[in-house]
Amino acid sequence: MHHAHTDAQSLSAYEAHLTADQRRAIEETAADLTGLHVAHVNTTAGGGGVAEMLHGVVPIANDLGVDTDWLVMEAPDEFFDVTKAIHNGLQGGDREFTTEMRELYRSVTRRNADALDGAYDVLVLHDPQTLGMIPTITERFPETALVWRCHIDLTDATPAYLDFAQSYVEPVDTAVFTLPAYGEAISGVEKVIIHPAIDPLTEKNRPLDELSGEAAEAAALENYPFDPSRPLLVQISRFDPWKDPQGVIETYRTVTASVPDAQLALVGAMPEDDPEGIEVFRELEAIAEDDGDVHLLTNLPDAGINAVQRHADVVLQKSLREGFALTVSEALWKGTPVVGANVGGIPLQIDDGENGFLIDPRNIEQTADRVTRLLEDDQLRRRLGERGRETVREAFLTPRLVGDFLTLLADVTPTN
Ligand code: UDP
Repeated sequence: MHHAHTDAQSLSAYEAHLTADQRRAIEETAADLTGLHVAHVNTTAGGGGVAEMLHGVVPIANDLGVDTDWLVMEAPDEFFDVTKAIHNGLQGGDREFTTEMRELYRSVTRRNADALDGAYDVLVLHDPQTLGMIPTITERFPETALVWRCHIDLTDATPAYLDFAQSYVEPVDTAVFTLPAYGEAISGVEKVIIHPAIDPLTEKNRPLDELSGEAAEAAALENYPFDPSRPLLVQISRFDPWKDPQGVIETYRTVTASVPDAQLALVGAMPEDDPEGIEVFRELEAIAEDDGDVHLLTNLPDAGINAVQRHADVVLQKSLREGFALTVSEALWKGTPVVGANVGGIPLQIDDGENGFLIDPRNIEQTADRVTRLLEDDQLRRRLGERGRETVREAFLTPRLVGDFLTLLADVTPTN
């Protein structure tokens, strides 16, 4: 295991995004935790929602006096093949879970638990990759409180994988899920709900005029192939069938019947090691090939994502299935109205007709109708966009997440 590097960050940097009461409550909770030694454990220091969240939460906790480390497991590529199968299996995938896979998982997680140096008061283990460390940790450090932060929706888990996860969780003090339904299938452990959050100070989310150097260059609209003077519909998502990019193109085509000058940008990361992503991308290229107003944009830097989310007239998140969808909060925070599927964490963020629209993602007509209504009505766009920003300010920014984590630490260490 190695320590992940984080840039220093303080709660006071978020002053503009916190009320005095919120700030006081967070500081008071932190003061009660002084002397505690905490570590988060995951499998990557960069890329993905967990790392994004820890880059904010870990340095702020330290700034508040709660000694917090971030440990990253060390593992060979074959381990990640296995943990990807476990991840998919917990979401309903049905790849066979062989004895070899289980043994590789056990030996790598045990090795990492053996490498843990020093006792922590609390270990926060993220996702299924870390679960196999539990037997060794409980043997070596019986006093350590254990939290399992599961970011996955387990409602449709394949039994072999669910049983495997269940076999590890019994010693855990608290399991944390994004929504109550996600953890219902897990038993014998105390559960709490914590919603994810976005960081308003990153290059992805801060105002464009606060960017400089390469980030400012990446945000310049001249870099992008769409026409900034015409209506723009955007979806930002991995090229994944569950994000339904083909349905987005169908929606866009229906919209153009009423708004003929509309354009579409589908923005997605294209990791070279994700053959499924490349396949979906090629299918989209084939579908979009004869339409100069459908733009497929890959691997934009954070400042570019920021610029496109701000420039969009409407952001669509037409997922068939979702965990939380950080992309929804990211767009709402920028005052861009969102049409989102009524699945997973999206209805947590969108109140239909109030700060955006919720749609049935299998209903193209309804989706296109909501997009069209927004594209045709400047006032409606402005009104929903403004309210969306307030929703995120109140519920989905990093300081609230820091507060939730500190409360959790207080709950699992009652003597503090
Ligand atoms: N993202 C990105 N570049 C892309 C596509 C997505 O940086 O080309 C980011 C996006 O801004 C968000 C995250 O990846 O921060 C996706 O999180 P979300 O919860 O929406 O979906 P997930 O990929 O976890 O299913």
